[in-house]
Amino acid sequence: MTISAFPPGQPESGRAETVAVTAGRRTVYLVVLVVLPVLTLAAAVPAAWGWGIGPRDAVIAVVMYLISIFGIAIGYHRHFTHRAFKCRRPLRIALMLAGGMALEGPVTLWTAEHRRHHKYADRAGDPHSPWRYGDSGLALLRGMAHAHIGWFYTARSRSSRQRWVPDLMADPDVRRFDAAYPAVAALSFLLPAAAGGLWSMSWTGMWTALFWGGLVRYAVVHHVTWSVNSIAHTFGDRPFRTRDRSSNVRWVAFLTLGEGWHNWHHVDPACARHGVLRGQLDPSARLIRWFERAGWAYGVRWPDPARLAARRVEAGPGTSGAGAGPSGAGPGTSAGRDPGRPARGGERARGGERDGVRRAPPRV
Ligand SMILES: [Zn+2]
Ligand SMILES: [Zn+2]
Repeated sequence: MTISAFPPGQPESGRAETVAVTAGRRTVYLVVLVVLPVLTLAAAVPAAWGWGIGPRDAVIAVVMYLISIFGIAIGYHRHFTHRAFKCRRPLRIALMLAGGMALEGPVTLWTAEHRRHHKYADRAGDPHSPWRYGDSGLALLRGMAHAHIGWFYTARSRSSRQRWVPDLMADPDVRRFDAAYPAVAALSFLLPAAAGGLWSMSWTGMWTALFWGGLVRYAVVHHVTWSVNSIAHTFGDRPFRTRDRSSNVRWVAFLTLGEGWHNWHHVDPACARHGVLRGQLDPSARLIRWFERAGWAYGVRWPDPARLAARRVEAGPGTSGAGAGPSGAGPGTSAGRDPGRPARGGERARGGERDGVRRAPPRV
């Protein structure tokens, strides 16, 4: 299966959907998003082998990991990108800060790229499809490297924030957060360092916590997040019909706290729950449910059983749908809309709140 939709060279993305990136900025992306995490992980292996990681640093690293991944999954992705739920201002700011801890960029930049990914998923215009170069062994390997981290540096253009996230650009809290992003990034390292120093009351404790809870944690968080783009668009089950190659990969879902249940997410991007089938644990959806019960989140879009049934691939052998590819999607699967399409004129991509928030009983 080859995606012929990808022409040689940079796909045409349409008018003003992308903006050029300067060489200086691409170099920053190369260092922060590609080189530094790989070097850190390379250093972590002998460090863990030689000295091991103590319980204090392990606790700090795990807590920072959970904050970062939940911040991306619940904040950047489900709330800011797809508006799967609304929430009160303190929670919204906390989610933005938590997402910032992952060091994956300001929320507007992340969101703009991801909305474009949904609009063009695995077709020309997708910023990070693993199928970009074809489906033969080497081409797919090259495509996966591109989808994982390669595109950060190779892309000569970025999704235009004015085009993709006008709703966020109009939000004063978001603008303040974007402006303060360098400070948030610094906090992502200062917090674990301070926790380690104060906990151990030693400089050594500070430095080891900075290494494990700051550097190594950020490197792991990055590669875990990027696995959704590379692995969960290549391997795994596809129990729902989609026009792209989004799939479910259990270990990616485990590490991303629910984001690896990526197949349903491409069917219904605005749904607050990604793991919708039996046995698909989705801690991010669970937390949103708790926020809802506490009254901090509202207007939550839970799965619609009728939609689930309608998009389910027939039971029996081949249920996974793997290998069907975008062109293998069944009739009517594209549903005539762009799942990740940003709002226009303040209206939601799909219907809008006034059209009724689906209130199907959640599986949480
Ligand atoms: Zn995707
Ligand atoms: Zn998404």
